[in-house]
Amino acid sequence: MDETRPKVRLYVSSPLAAGGVATLDAGQAHYLRNVMRLSPGDGVRLFNGVDGEWLATVDGLSRKGGGVTVGERLRAQTADADLWLLFAPVKRAPLDLLVQKAVELGVSRLQPVLTRRTVVERVNIDRLDAIAVEAAEQSQRMSMPEVAEPVELAAALDDWPARRRLYFCDTGEAPPMAEALASDAPGSPGAVLIGPEGGFDPGERQWLAALPYAAPVSLGPRILRAETAALAALVLWQSAVGDWRSGA
Ligand code: SAM
Repeated sequence: MDETRPKVRLYVSSPLAAGGVATLDAGQAHYLRNVMRLSPGDGVRLFNGVDGEWLATVDGLSRKGGGVTVGERLRAQTADADLWLLFAPVKRAPLDLLVQKAVELGVSRLQPVLTRRTVVERVNIDRLDAIAVEAAEQSQRMSMPEVAEPVELAAALDDWPARRRLYFCDTGEAPPMAEALASDAPGSPGAVLIGPEGGFDPGERQWLAALPYAAPVSLGPRILRAETAALAALVLWQSAVGDWRSGA
């Protein structure tokens, strides 16, 4: 990264264009003022997932919020890999880690799914959203992944786009994920499905395996925690199909 550019990078939901003004919420203003010790005249970088990344100058910061004026564009918008993560929610600490790392690894959508053996059914989407925003800001990604409300597994697969291959990670007999990925066209859309701590039940396994777009896959001989399995699967997918490939 260019060291002369401001280190602070914020996600805003408003459009960004030279000469425009962007509003900061109370949390962002607090962060700039009290954590990063910025004041009017200082520079920040902004992105909104649509218009690229922009240099901006702080106009004012207060307890209620702040304002910045947008200057020159630093980076054009680029598309991140088209990778969804469907996962049965786990407890708070591993869930927070899972969301943070999945965003760093480039997922475009996080979908909590309720399976038959899911124990944790309540998910604080606002907290996960805040974690996703922070991870996107820190990792320099250009897009903001969507964190969806939890839905039943069957509902999540309703109207599933036929071209999006669903890698259903299973501890039972299944081909290694690295091998299964070899038949995917580079850059094609994909999804990873991770089960709950108790795993998928036999009926779910059978149903999933029969779906034309789903491929049961193994992540090796050891039983991984759900969050470890999710991150391992995302790394494999990004390396074989996503934006970790050379020339991607
Ligand atoms: N006792 C459960 C079982 O045998 O399925 C363990 C579930 S594991 C803690 C949680 C989820 O992580 C699984 O449902 C699966 O999606 C994924 N997982 C864990 N280890 C895996 C492996 N070696 N291969 C594929 N998926 C794995």
